[in-house]
Amino acid sequence: MNSDIEKLRKKINEIDRKLIELLAERRKISKEVVVAKKESGKPIRDQQREMELLSKIISIGKEHNLDSHFVTKIFYEIIDDSVRLQQKYLQDYKPETGSGILRVAIQGIEGSYSYLATTQFFAHNEEELIFLYKETFDEVVNAVEKGEADYAVLPIENTTSGGINEVYDLLLHTTLSIVGEEKFQVKHCLIGTQDATISKLKKIFTHYQGASQCSKFLASLPNCEISFYTDTAMSARKIVEENNPAYGAIASEEAANLFNVKILKRNIANQSENYTRFLVCARKPKEVDPRIPAKTSLVMATSHTPGSLANAIAVFQKYNVNMTKLESRPILGNPWEEMFYLDFEGNPADPVIRQLLDELGKHTRFLKILGTYPSKDIVKTKLDYFKTGNTVIENNEVTGTAKIDEDKKQPKPEVKRSYKLASRDYKPEDTIIKVGDIEIGGDNFIVIAGPCSVESHDQIFACANEAKEHGAQILRGGCFKPRTSPYSFQGLGFEGLELLEAAGKTYGLPVITEVLAPDQVEAVARQADILQIGARNMQNFSLLKAVGRCHRPVMLKRGMMSSLDELLNAAEYILSQGNRQVILCERGIRTFETATRNTLDLSAIPILKELTHLPIIVDPSHAIGQRDKVVPLAKAAKVVGAHGIMVEFHPEPEKALSDPDQALRFDQFEEMMRDLRKL
Ligand code: PEP
Ligand code: MN
Repeated sequence: MNSDIEKLRKKINEIDRKLIELLAERRKISKEVVVAKKESGKPIRDQQREMELLSKIISIGKEHNLDSHFVTKIFYEIIDDSVRLQQKYLQDYKPETGSGILRVAIQGIEGSYSYLATTQFFAHNEEELIFLYKETFDEVVNAVEKGEADYAVLPIENTTSGGINEVYDLLLHTTLSIVGEEKFQVKHCLIGTQDATISKLKKIFTHYQGASQCSKFLASLPNCEISFYTDTAMSARKIVEENNPAYGAIASEEAANLFNVKILKRNIANQSENYTRFLVCARKPKEVDPRIPAKTSLVMATSHTPGSLANAIAVFQKYNVNMTKLESRPILGNPWEEMFYLDFEGNPADPVIRQLLDELGKHTRFLKILGTYPSKDIVKTKLDYFKTGNTVIENNEVTGTAKIDEDKKQPKPEVKRSYKLASRDYKPEDTIIKVGDIEIGGDNFIVIAGPCSVESHDQIFACANEAKEHGAQILRGGCFKPRTSPYSFQGLGFEGLELLEAAGKTYGLPVITEVLAPDQVEAVARQADILQIGARNMQNFSLLKAVGRCHRPVMLKRGMMSSLDELLNAAEYILSQGNRQVILCERGIRTFETATRNTLDLSAIPILKELTHLPIIVDPSHAIGQRDKVVPLAKAAKVVGAHGIMVEFHPEPEKALSDPDQALRFDQFEEMMRDLRKL
């Protein structure tokens, strides 16, 4: 027995060795490619080629029973490595002195987030990294200006607490240039000495940024005094020096390990995805090779006349250049006047960008380029399963669509509507809602899939895997269930939401879940990417107002006894509160027919598309209520022009705790996805 395992392990070791050798060989060739590209001047990324490659290796994976999620994950790692390697070849960061030592000034000490981000940024450098630890950002900048250090690494913004004002203000006056950026995922922990426990803590040392990013957790410890400290790593060092079990600190796991203190609680930030962006600055600007996607930062002041900022920004639209950041700061000494900090995708080495900057200059009374640097956003190549460009019949003459378009142009009798923001008259162009990198609305067709209710870890992870494997873009799962009987399963609540969020994160799928009450909205919006308002709540006006005040997209399901006019008025409640990201969902209405759970009103789709700019999703599962008839309705929804469908499926439909009869089996779901792709 043991010798069998030994033999198998040997085989595995041999395979792993080969994998590593092949990866090394791939890297070598990738380096040769960049050398060849250097001669031809081609950009280092070719998304079209990557898409073809990804599609090919997914199908090879399928032949060998490897799921596409697994293959895609490995592919991303390889591409990421290859892009970084090629970028490094074209753009390296050398010490000014040409020595083998790279001197970097940061605010803070070893173990601080600046320290960790710097280590990550220079990871591929061969030079020895020497840190100059400074107390203030001002001193960091000075160290480079005076030539004591080669680079300054400065935090500029955090995804929870926002821009770091002191650094913005320094950028205005310094002679340094931005030559790089780094994005670092900050994972705050509560730490203490070996005898500390959370309940014993009386005082917590923290940097003010750490306190602001973990404000919700700190509020749960009302008896703890918060003591502000210079930085997170110093807070860790402080509790070691004090050696008092009543003292805690907020710092990274790395700092806790460095100072050998105990982690009392991980992930205490308000948002689990908490990133800080750092700028790398040097004395001289650095040219960025045109084959690398670059960003440029600038600061400007526009004149104090109506429309001057709009005119300046319109220049970016004119040249079709994407702005990634706009931040304003008061001008010291000039009350009520502002400086605008702006980042955009582009490189002044490109003549179009030079022209843009020239023109921008005419609309400003101050303009300073802060630097151009390689962008750290490595876009993941995705396969688009459902571009609706490939509709069934494309010849206008044969289908008579030309005639239909003519009809559309005929003037329609004026109708007085009680909704405004939801109407096409108000906004003629389609609303496209972006969730991560998925677009809902316009020409896109998307699939939302998942169980009726989240029931367990294994169930929702199996569903997420299945959804991803066959190209669904969004994972659904009810956590708070509106059940007809109070004795039926009511959902797992926030515990279910944790599982849904974890499954979505693991498989890279945004998640949607239903909210039942206004007081749930804020908490659910923290974890779900899209909020659902169920059919039974379509006219729950206080709930509509609550989701209207929230920043997440909302999918509003048509009430089972509601007209389209009532649906659009319900959408208006949400829109008029400020939330302009509303998706409508047709899920079947109640008629005299008893053969189906509801009657799917497919005619609603073309009518709604005429009346409103909002995206429309069809839910065939709740409409028909029988699993064997979901697929034809899903196909019909695509053909009538819906922007997507939402279906329920389950690893073991008969055992589902809610809506077992309509849940597709995985094989049926797979077949549906295949059929939809052909349409
Ligand atoms: C659901 O989508 O889980 C649901 C309860 O649907 P509806 O509100 O359409 O009944
Ligand atoms: Mn359901």
